[in-house]
Amino acid sequence: MVEKIYISYNNIHKLCQEAAVVIKEFKPDLMIAIGGGGFIPARILRTFLKQPGSKNIPIQAIGLSLYEDFGTDNGVESAGVEVVRTQWLDFSSTHTVDLIGKHIVIVDEVDDTRTTLHYAVSELEKDVKEQAAKLGRSEEDTKFFVFVLHNKDKPKNAQLPEDMLTEGRYLAARTVPDQWIAYPWEQIDIEDHTFQAVAQGNN
Ligand code: 5GP
Repeated sequence: MVEKIYISYNNIHKLCQEAAVVIKEFKPDLMIAIGGGGFIPARILRTFLKQPGSKNIPIQAIGLSLYEDFGTDNGVESAGVEVVRTQWLDFSSTHTVDLIGKHIVIVDEVDDTRTTLHYAVSELEKDVKEQAAKLGRSEEDTKFFVFVLHNKDKPKNAQLPEDMLTEGRYLAARTVPDQWIAYPWEQIDIEDHTFQAVAQGNN
C-alpha cells in the first residue's frame, strides 16, 4: 500500500497547464489563492491563463487555519473544526479589491474534508453581497470557480454551492484516494522527494 502520495514541482506545473484549458473558458478576472498551499499553483496557473496582449490576472492572497474545537453540544462532548481567518481581503477602499461582477478563481492545493473551501466560498459570497449592497451594485453577477490540484475521494464535512458543481465551476486536476499528499514546497530534501514522485509516476 502507498502510504504517501509524492507530488513533484514538474507534476504541479503540468496539472496547472492542463487545468488552465478549462479555467480559460470561465474567463477569469482575478484569482484568490488560499495560503500557503494555493500560492504556488495560483502563480503557475497565471502563466497559462495569460492571453497575448492582455494583462496578467491579479492574484490576491487569503489565509485560513483550521483548529480543533472541543466543546459540549447539549451536554454531549463534541469535537468540531473551527476555521480562523489569518489573512483576508482589504475592502476598505475601492482601489484595493473589487470582486463585484467579477469571475473569480479560488485556488488551493487540496480538497480534503472541504471545510476550508466551504468557508472561503461562503465568506467571499457574503463579502460580495455586502459590498454590492453598500455600493448599489447588487444587480452585477459575481461568479466563483474553485480550482484544486487534488480532491480526496472521501465523505466531506462541508459542501460547496450546488450551482458551482452543476455549472462546472469546480475543478480538481486529480481525484486521489484518501492518503496523505506530500507537496514539494513542504520538503527539506527536494531531491529525494522528487525521486519518490518520479517513482510513483507523479512527475
Ligand atoms: P480541508 O480538510 O479543509 O479540505 O483541508 C484543510 C487543509 O489541510 C488543506 O488546505 C491543506 O493545507 C491540509 N491538508 C489536508 N490534506 C492534506 C494532505 O494530504 N497533504 C497536505 N500537504 N496537506 C493537507
